[in-house]
Amino acid sequence: MNIKESFDYIIVGAGSAGCVLANRLTACGKYRVLLLEAGSSDWHPLVHIPLGWIQISYQAAFNWGYSIEPEESTHHRAMYWPRGKLLGGSSSINGMVHIRGHQEDFNSWRDAGCTNWDWDSVKPYFERSERHAGDNTQRDALGISEVEHTEASELFIKSCVSLGLERIDDFNTGDQEGVAYYQSTISNGRRQSTAHCYLKPAKQRDNLRVVTGALCEQITFEDQRATGVVISKKGQSIHYRAEREVILCAGTVNSPQLLQLSGVGPVELLQKHGIKTVVDLPGVGQNLIDHIGVMAAYKVSGTRTVWDEMNPLALVVQLYRYLRHKAGLLNFPSSHVGAFFRSNAAQARPDIQLFFMPVGGDRDEHNRSVMDKTSSVTAMIQHVRPTSRGGVMIKSASPTDLPAIHANYFDTEYDRQAIVAGFKRIRDFFNQNPIAAHCGDEIRPGAHIQSDEEIFEHVRKEATTGYHPVGTCKMGTDALAVVDPELRVRGVGGLRVVDASIMPDIVAGNTNAATVMIAEKASDMILASAAP
Ligand SMILES: Cc1cc2nc3c(=O)[nH]c(=O)nc-3n(C[C@H](O)[C@H](O)[C@H](O)COP(=O)(O)OP(=O)(O)OC[C@H]3O[C@@H](n4cnc5c(N)ncnc54)[C@H](O)[C@@H]3O)c2cc1C
Repeated sequence: MNIKESFDYIIVGAGSAGCVLANRLTACGKYRVLLLEAGSSDWHPLVHIPLGWIQISYQAAFNWGYSIEPEESTHHRAMYWPRGKLLGGSSSINGMVHIRGHQEDFNSWRDAGCTNWDWDSVKPYFERSERHAGDNTQRDALGISEVEHTEASELFIKSCVSLGLERIDDFNTGDQEGVAYYQSTISNGRRQSTAHCYLKPAKQRDNLRVVTGALCEQITFEDQRATGVVISKKGQSIHYRAEREVILCAGTVNSPQLLQLSGVGPVELLQKHGIKTVVDLPGVGQNLIDHIGVMAAYKVSGTRTVWDEMNPLALVVQLYRYLRHKAGLLNFPSSHVGAFFRSNAAQARPDIQLFFMPVGGDRDEHNRSVMDKTSSVTAMIQHVRPTSRGGVMIKSASPTDLPAIHANYFDTEYDRQAIVAGFKRIRDFFNQNPIAAHCGDEIRPGAHIQSDEEIFEHVRKEATTGYHPVGTCKMGTDALAVVDPELRVRGVGGLRVVDASIMPDIVAGNTNAATVMIAEKASDMILASAAP
């Protein structure tokens, strides 16, 4: 095996977290950093044009192509789980909805033993990671904006308000309850991936090396200390050494997989696959948490939807608006209007998130997006505080074998009740004026589905991942914690995990913003511990 160079820090995975760290750790110029990415560059134009997410998020060339293990609770479907495999990781293929989470999400992390991860401690890092429209500073941060409002969205908002939801200005103050326009990671007509916002400005630094097409296969250890990694690139095996730390940013599926392949994990699992144990850490791969969502779509008339743009003249106008003004349909995220509310009155804070879209459609059996052939609108709800827990486990000692993902959706009664209650609220909103006056038939799932049992059966057959898996290398101090509150892997030296997998519990909302915040905060901790 080739022993190549050594670096101060080796970052595995150039995703939402990895690109932030690569920027921050090289900024002072003192440390040599190697950033390894299994996927390719983010060259494809559909990565950068916001509406391109519909295609790019399922495109095999930029995706790990995971499916969950079939489970009874989701009708034995091998549900597809897209995960980005390119510079920017999932931030280069995601739906661009920008949500920090509820302040109590982070206060509960603190209460679970994660000192300094309460709302007051993390808020400054959210602020550091965001550059809102009108902020003309040249800071390296995510460009954040609100895309234009539409008439159909206004109708929907008014119906939510008629049903008692408060219209609010901003979901990101720490208290989310209400209905509002989403902020999105879109600026100047471009997706704001971490590759674009953090890696690109750092790439010219002499002390940063970025290697794409580099699959990290193993972390190497000497005397319980991580000393480097072994990668494969174009069939060649290469060993890089880390003088200070190896930092895993490979995401919720791949970070625990890599730890397990390297001998850090539950001893029985390691023994089963003939892997020498470095440290018996039973929590590696446990505590998998995801949001899962279900939608309803309605025919509409008398208000403009995406359907009205599907003719040559309107498309030319949209293209012109995008190229000239960075506006219009091509500049849209996955959803631009949403709501947070409680599935029942006993909940202390919202546990359902809603996404409204002025379009209807589905994915076919090949995961291609297919639009309804009529003017329609859709709302999707996700249960954002689920209590079911799954896991990620290697199936063999081979780094190229995909691990088993046990999502274990709807394992608890609360999760089953919440998704049914959330779905019923979608119908309440669409049955309320002013949107009700424009709504015709329910296209999906259809009026024949009425009782709670029928709704849950529909959920089992049709609900899809919210794309937000977290928690498999959870931070904490209990027996199943994988990293401590400084994100150091317990029981070994020189190794951290910094990505969505460290969340001890999921945030109530989309997970990109919290992942970027985690990386911003981690960069300060890493630099502070390196200081003489
Ligand atoms: C389709 C989709 C839509 C989403 N929509 C939204 C949204 O609208 N808003 C939102 O906030 N969140 C959204 N998310 C979730 C959000 O993007 C993720 O939570 C976040 O990107 C996770 O960041 P991460 O750094 O943990 O992992 P990732 O960004 O996935 O990065 C992991 C990186 O590590 C690389 N890697 C993995 N293993 C190895 C290895 N062995 N060797 C080398 N490299 C490796 C991967 O290729 C990848 O680039 C969405 C996600 C998806 C997939």
